[in-house]
Amino acid sequence: MPTAPVGRFAPSPTGTLHLGNLRTALVAWLSIRRAGGTFLLRIEDLDRDRSRPEHEAAQLRDLRAIGVDWDGEPVRQSDRAAAYDDAIDRLDRAGLLYPCWCTRAEIRDAARAPHGDLPEGAYPGTCAHLDAAGRARRAADADRPPALRVRADAARVTVEDRWRGPIAGTVDDFVVRRGDGTVAYNLAVVVDDGRQRIDEVVRGDDLASSAPRQAWLAATLGLPVPSYAHVPLVLGPDGRRLAKRDGAVTLADRAALGEDAATVRGALAASLGIVPPGSRPTPAELVAAFDPAVLVGRGPTRWDPVDGPLT
Ligand code: GLU
Repeated sequence: MPTAPVGRFAPSPTGTLHLGNLRTALVAWLSIRRAGGTFLLRIEDLDRDRSRPEHEAAQLRDLRAIGVDWDGEPVRQSDRAAAYDDAIDRLDRAGLLYPCWCTRAEIRDAARAPHGDLPEGAYPGTCAHLDAAGRARRAADADRPPALRVRADAARVTVEDRWRGPIAGTVDDFVVRRGDGTVAYNLAVVVDDGRQRIDEVVRGDDLASSAPRQAWLAATLGLPVPSYAHVPLVLGPDGRRLAKRDGAVTLADRAALGEDAATVRGALAASLGIVPPGSRPTPAELVAAFDPAVLVGRGPTRWDPVDGPLT
């Protein structure tokens, strides 16, 4: 018998969760609860400048209001430096890391030159093959410490997304530690998903292109590679990702319009075809109604929050 899966929601406490974020959380939670699994909450607070305890508190409150609960205490990435250091040490010992002094502008300009197989925006490898003298020169020219990049050798990786199908990517030499010492998102996520024994990574579609990198890094660190499933985004009326500028996009905004959490929960689920429009399901009713197959091949939802409920 397969064991019950472990899943997670991993918000960054840098603002209020909007309805698109809440919809993603709901789906991640439904997928696990439907399968009788364990659902964990991880607070991704490595960005010290933008993370705030009050955002975290509001996010937890909104998740609970929508019906998302979690097992155990939330884990905070800011408490997990030792695990990240350990992973970075292991990559270093395997000879897979190198220092990189490139600025964003240098990467952008270098990327205009042809560079084989790498996708647009990928690191072109400027600092990958410097000898000791080259490194010394770069270090002297730059007035800041280098980032650390992992040597991925343009590995071709295909991740099988449960709802989108295959996501193929060429893995560039991505940053694992920034010049200011902050651990990079891709490293922290992979280490935590591994340590927390996450089987199912269910998250927003905007992170789909990170999946090949993360699957590659998990395998390189000897961690199990989780399954991936990306949830369609909610877009604003202009076709861009839903944002504050679009109007009443948070639970508090909707409450001010007279919609309680059950109404919003139902509207979010209805927008994905999980329940009929106008439903006000309890969390348990939603778990009973959830069929993951409704997510297969589903595109984004465009919504004008000024015009009324999400349908
Ligand atoms: N912390 C990331 C975010 O809020 C999500 C990371 C993930 O789910 O892999 O966008």
